[in-house]
Formats: sequence, structure tokens, C-alpha cells
Amino acid sequence: MKPRKKDNPRVDWSGFTRLLLAWFKQHKRNLPWRNTQDPYAIWISEVMLQQTQVKTAIPYYLNFLKKFPTLPALAEAPFQEVLKSWEGLGYYSRARHLHSTAKEVRQKYGGNLPNKRDALLSLAGIGPYTASAVASIAFGEASPVVDGNVWRVFSRLLADSSLPDKGKTKTFQILTGVIPHQDPSSFNQALMELGSMICLPKNPDCPNCPVQKFCQAFRLKQVDKFPRKPPKKKLPHKHWITLVLQRKDQVILRQRPLRGIWGGLWEFPTANAQITESTSKTALRFAKSLNLNQKIIKPELRSPIPHAFSHFKVTIHPFWIGLAEAKTDPDLVWTDIHQNPYPMPKPHLKILEVLKQQKAPLAQTAF
Ligand code: SF4
Repeated sequence: MKPRKKDNPRVDWSGFTRLLLAWFKQHKRNLPWRNTQDPYAIWISEVMLQQTQVKTAIPYYLNFLKKFPTLPALAEAPFQEVLKSWEGLGYYSRARHLHSTAKEVRQKYGGNLPNKRDALLSLAGIGPYTASAVASIAFGEASPVVDGNVWRVFSRLLADSSLPDKGKTKTFQILTGVIPHQDPSSFNQALMELGSMICLPKNPDCPNCPVQKFCQAFRLKQVDKFPRKPPKKKLPHKHWITLVLQRKDQVILRQRPLRGIWGGLWEFPTANAQITESTSKTALRFAKSLNLNQKIIKPELRSPIPHAFSHFKVTIHPFWIGLAEAKTDPDLVWTDIHQNPYPMPKPHLKILEVLKQQKAPLAQTAF
């Protein structure tokens, strides 16, 4: 599809593409996923990078490929191992989708990712961004990618004050007519690189921008006005009570449901705090409901832990309980605090860290 005139009559797209690609050739970062043509490795990197910064993603990417070097290896791995490799990275549904998609690809395509965007999109765990990224970078299909970085560049380039959803759709339509068919991979990567290296959310480096001469926001001296931000919503704030149930070097964990927040991860048993009573009262009631033989309860193991999800904030209040016996409900497991094989969410890993640093088991520690 050719760009329509009304999209932006001022941009000389072939000049834009030439300057962008020349800049990318000279300045692109040497990132591990840029040294491979393996569609599977490219897929993993694109999924990781969607919600994670490059420097955080690199060690996870390298470790993930070491553990699951091929798509069939990922498909055959137990889900808990996949989650363990994702531990600390957040947005755990990505790991679940990777795993289920690997199984689907093994079953439908014999273990090789399909090489067309439409076929990739037909897989349950792959969305439009990932389908375009894999199709263009791994298979050379002229299919544009529009992530947050690309949208930011375009909103400034075109001085487009649309809100993100509409703006991203518009950008995709324009780019479909602009993306060069001979090297769509470099074009897509160059746009994303420009957004992460030069056209930054705050203080973009306009003097060194290769496409500055095409940029409407720069010309109008209104760079800080784009992209337009949706009105900020006040996020609800919750409080959770978390019980750290310990006996010698062992603690109790419980698995979260597979769907939803921290899906499939293991945590110290957690309950909602009640506004009608103090956190310690809820902790006591919750402990009793687990039917455990309590030895001692300590008001707070460490200071409350704040955590933000995309749609609410939470403060986690950990309480420590020393247990006399090892008996528990069947849905609870014991794990060693120094060698824990269960994947856990970040705030709970912080609690585990406190336990590891205790010189003696807490039951012997004077508070
Ligand atoms: Fe972004 Fe500035 Fe380049 Fe415009 S000139 S695209 S605002 S870095």
C-alpha cells in the first residue's frame, strides 16, 4: 500500500529511508540477537524486548537459549523450568505464550516457525508486533513493526497528536507503503534503534538525529508535545499479607493460578489485607486458616515491599512464622531457602534474600 498524500505530504520517504539506513549501518549496537539468523532465537529476543530494556534482556536471552537452544527443546521442557528462566523478568504470560506456541509450532509445522506474517499471526501466542518482527527480521518479509519506540519517532516526525492506539495503527499503514522490500529487517531495526538511542522519551538527541530534516515536531520546536500522552489514571492501591512460614532452612511456598498475575509462579502464601482490621490481625487469621502448627509469629520480617503492576499498585506486608512441624496442606510445598528450584516473583525473591542473609534460622534470632 502506497502512503496516501494526506498522511504527510512533506516527507520524502526514500530520502528518509536512505538516511535512516546509513545511520543504522554506522551506529547500530552489537546485540546478541543481531548476530543470528535463527528465527527461533529472533522470536525469543523479540518477545523479551517487548516489555524489557535491552540491558536487562541480554543475560536472560543468553541464558534462555543456553537452556532451550531450539524450538523443540523449548516445547519439550517442563513449564516450571521455562518460568524459572523467566524469573525476575516480569510479564510472565510471555513465558507461558512462548511455551504453548513452541508446542503448537512443533505439532503444526514440525518445529520450524512459519515464514509468513499471516501464518505467524495465526498461532495463539503470537500478536501483530511479534509476527511482523519475526517475519521481517528472520524471513525478510516487508512487514512493518510499530512498537512504542517507532510510534514515538513517528508522532514527532509527523507532529501527530493521535493517542497511541490510533497513532500506532496509522503509523503501521504509512510504513506498509514505505518499508523497503530489499531490506525490511534493517529498516525495522533502524527505526526501533532510532527510538531507543536518539529519539528518546525525554531529551531526544535532535542535533544528532539522521532524519531531523524531515521532522515536523523539530521544525515547529514542539518535540516535547509528542507523542500525546493519554490522561493518567489513578491506579488502585492494594495491600497484601504474606506469610513466611519457616522451619530450619525450609520455607513454604504455594503456586499461583496459571492465568493472571504472576501466573504459575510460586510465592509465600499471600492474602488480601482487610481494611476493617490491622495487617497483623489478618496475618494471624490467615495463618490459622492454613492449619499450621505455629511456633512463633513475628510482626514483620522486613519493611513492606511496594510493587506496581500495570493496572494497580500493591504493598506487600511480610510476616514471619516459625513452624514446629513439617506437616502442611497438599497444595503447599517446602523448599530450601538456599537452593530453591521454584520460580518466584521479584518481591518474594527479595524476602527470600532476607532469609538467606540470616546467620541463624530466624526461630533462634532474637527480635
Ligand atoms: Fe526525534 Fe528529534 Fe529526530 Fe525529530 S529530530 S525524530 S524529535 S530525535
